[in-house]
Amino acid sequence: MSEQKKPTLHRDTLAVREAVERSQYGENSEALYLTSGYVQPSAEAGARRFAGDEEGFTYGRYGNPTVASFEQRLAALEGAEACISTASGMSAILMMCMGLLKAGDHVICSHSMFGSTIKLIGTDLAKFGVESSFLSQTDVAAWKAAVKPNTRLLFAETPTNPLTEVCDIRALADIAHGAGALLCVDNCFATPALQRPMTLGADIVMHSGTKYLDGQGRVMAGALCASQELVTKTFLPVLKSAGMTLAPFNAWVVLKGLETLDIRMRAQSANALALAQWLQDHPSVARVYYPGLASHPQHALAMAQQAGCGGAVLSFEVKAADPEQARARAFHVLDSLQVMSLSTNLGDTKTLLAHPASTSHGRLTEAQRQTAGVVQGLIRVAVGLEHLGDIQADLDRGLSTF
Ligand SMILES: *Cc1c(COP(=O)(O)O)cnc(C)c1O
Repeated sequence: MSEQKKPTLHRDTLAVREAVERSQYGENSEALYLTSGYVQPSAEAGARRFAGDEEGFTYGRYGNPTVASFEQRLAALEGAEACISTASGMSAILMMCMGLLKAGDHVICSHSMFGSTIKLIGTDLAKFGVESSFLSQTDVAAWKAAVKPNTRLLFAETPTNPLTEVCDIRALADIAHGAGALLCVDNCFATPALQRPMTLGADIVMHSGTKYLDGQGRVMAGALCASQELVTKTFLPVLKSAGMTLAPFNAWVVLKGLETLDIRMRAQSANALALAQWLQDHPSVARVYYPGLASHPQHALAMAQQAGCGGAVLSFEVKAADPEQARARAFHVLDSLQVMSLSTNLGDTKTLLAHPASTSHGRLTEAQRQTAGVVQGLIRVAVGLEHLGDIQADLDRGLSTF
């Protein structure tokens, strides 16, 4: 009997077919294994499995078949050797930092990272002696200049929240590797449907599975994609001792979410581009931030790096005479919505709108917010799958009645 060769499959196929391991019942949809423990075939086998000398599940904190399927499928989509999942996006970052860093090490981060990431690395890890520098991620020369002998990790997010700044992944990877450090990219906004940072030199891709991977706003999840060696030797030991384990049910939801990731991202991005163009011409709108618009400062880079697509998140500023009026007008737009949701989440099929200056960036001083560009008139839209005409009409309710 000749051995069957596994066919090389396209990413669309992998999104629905990778890591399908059927039980004896032959279920077509992936099984959900809700179990915290596993029965060992023998005491010897149990000993070998606990020692890591034999494949096999031992305990729910360490691994689960449904969780493993999600990890394998996400790794396939990112083009990574391996993936390890966590209970949330933030706990994926914690796992990465606990695995890679020790007291005295230095991290360079974008200053436009997700707010909790800045707090975790800049404040919480500082208590354990980890140094950090926060820089503009579009200023490649500043990153190069910030490298020190103890720099271990460079960490960027592209596009960023809420102003959709795009960084040059290849350029940052070169700086990291020149310094003997690693580059991690938070790929939450673009997802592997649009951007695969490992093909551009990133060593680690971090995900909040809570967002587009789930895609319908149901569960929390996180993941790191990396080499098999980093996953097995650096991250898995942290998972085993610290226990930021992804729940099997949540893994199952996100696993099924991956099946529709590509078509959701493309449909939601098409809606976002059309909405950005409409907002750009609206008399009540001062400025639109969206990588798919030619007016975006990194438009060309974004198109090259993100499969010719701007993604599904945009932000815009309402026209106003001063910050007070801007805030009142932004609130008026949000309070006039009848269809879309006022919610700080993103990555849902339902369009979600937020006022960053009073929510995600509410703890900053007005001066810090000005530097960050998160002004009072700014509204973020995570565009969903509703009809474009209904989205426009819902925004126009407020925009046309200042
Ligand atoms: C939401 C988010 C995170 C954190 O993920 P959680 O799943 O909420 O812990 C990290 N980065 C980005 C860009 C995010 O949007």
